Amino acid sequence: MNQKPFNDTSYEQSLNEEKIMGSKCKKCGALALPPRPICVSCFGSEMEWVQFKGTGKLAAFTSIVVAPPYMAKEGFGRNNPYVVGVVELAEGVKTVARIVGFDAKKPELIKVGTPLKAEFIEKGEGPERRYSLVFKA
Ligand SMILES: [Zn+2]
Repeated sequence: MNQKPFNDTSYEQSLNEEKIMGSKCKKCGALALPPRPICVSCFGSEMEWVQFKGTGKLAAFTSIVVAPPYMAKEGFGRNNPYVVGVVELAEGVKTVARIVGFDAKKPELIKVGTPLKAEFIEKGEGPERRYSLVFKA
């Protein structure tokens, strides 16, 4: 069987196809997103691909004012914070992603438990063009 490796490169390729692909342990059924070659639960190494629907709810979040360079280029920073959160997907796995659709300057209005939906955001141009996954309230 010719399977893609369970790593970040394969994960990013799936995002470019607007799919959210994670790994599922064949032994214990534990899910991982992004995919991992070794099960975080039983350390098994027999994995299979699963596609996630991209719906979930906000489990935790933080408003970030110190932006990494690629985010700073988009204008994020001290005066324009952004939100990163832990999303609990409908399939039961948690993943960390940027959250959009909230006012990051008013984190007090952001509610844990808010339903979220995955969106693919296009970044860069030409051969640099790729998609990243965000969750929208
Ligand atoms: Zn396992």
